[in-house]
Amino acid sequence: MTEQKNHYKVLIIGSGPAGFTAALYAARANLNPIVFEGNQPGGQLMITTEVENFPGFEHGIQGPVLMETMRKQAQRFGAKTVFKTIAKVDFSKRPFELFSDDGLKFTADTVIVATGASAKLLGLESESKYMGFGVSACATCDGFFFRNQRVIVVGGGDTAMEEANYLANLCSEVTIVHRREGFRASKIMLERAKKNPKIKFILDTVIDEILGKEENGKKFVTGARLKNVKTGEITNFECEGIFIAIGHKPNTEIFKGWLDMDEIGYLKTEKSSTKTNIPGVFACGDAQDNYYRQAITAAGTGCMAAIDAERYLASLE
Ligand code: FAD
Ligand code: NAP
Repeated sequence: MTEQKNHYKVLIIGSGPAGFTAALYAARANLNPIVFEGNQPGGQLMITTEVENFPGFEHGIQGPVLMETMRKQAQRFGAKTVFKTIAKVDFSKRPFELFSDDGLKFTADTVIVATGASAKLLGLESESKYMGFGVSACATCDGFFFRNQRVIVVGGGDTAMEEANYLANLCSEVTIVHRREGFRASKIMLERAKKNPKIKFILDTVIDEILGKEENGKKFVTGARLKNVKTGEITNFECEGIFIAIGHKPNTEIFKGWLDMDEIGYLKTEKSSTKTNIPGVFACGDAQDNYYRQAITAAGTGCMAAIDAERYLASLE
């Protein structure tokens, strides 16, 4: 790897709401932070359309517009942002050493991990085509757009049950499509869904294709082609929304062996703080939150991480 004298007091990995909020606070504290934007500059909200629950925008705001505004706001106070991905870290040394995917070495007194998480998806072409236009991976975010409409929830874990129960309060009909008869969901969550008269189940079934159309330049979902995995039978199912709830994966692979994480890969932080097991390394946003997973909570913990980093640096002086 090429060596380069690139030292920062605060190095932030990730450019979603958590990373840019951390950058804003660190920049305003005169810590000249650098943000590594990674392979999804702007984070998860870049793949959505309307965000209606981020406070401050009475009529909602488009996800990409919100993220561009966050980036500019952090830059206005001196945060540097680079379109690079961190490929490797060495937290055994002080300052910490980090290596970008183009072979450059960076050093930092503190590191803020804001690498987010990615919803697992089915991998169908039609799924990416209609993502944000009838296909969603977040009921709390998008359920409101499907009021009094019919939706499918894909999955058989607690997330699928939770999403289905949430959607049942808004939608006219919720159908859980699960690929086998057994469930991973806890008994209590499954029973709650089963007792809800608005929730139906189609088991041993996968989504073969998401069906939709385009009218006047607008895309929308009209249903799904379902395949029974036991009989091979194909049926078309009419609905307006499809929620993929087959789990999330935190983007924390490069921290394995350095930072404490749970069995799925969510980073562990000290209660009521963003401190990880390594002093000087802080974690925020969806990378350490498998429960709330919202833009505003990610931004909130991004703010906490910057304040934690600032206080840590002050304690060294
Ligand atoms: P992310 O937004 O996931 O950003 C992670 C960042 O880390 C990315 O920039 C990525 O490039 C970067 N990164 C990862 N690895 C590396 C690396 N090795 N080096 C450098 N950078 C790296 N929430 C709401 O509150 N309201 C909504 O309406 C809403 N709608 C949503 C719609 C969709 C389709 C999805 C998928 C999510 C939605 N969410 C919504 C959830 C919200 O987007 C997330 O909770 C939030 O983006 C998490 O922010 P974050 O900063 O922790 O991480
Ligand atoms: P999960 O438990 O791993 O369940 C994922 C589900 O999606 C499984 O039913 C799986 O089917 C299915 N699935 C995976 N890939 C698929 C694919 N490609 N096509 C179709 N189906 C697919 O994930 P989770 O539900 O997100 O839960 C993760 C953890 O968070 C769990 O520990 C859970 O208890 C916890 N959680 C708790 C709560 C709560 O208590 N309130 C809420 C949400 C999550 P198979 O079963 O066939 O593999």
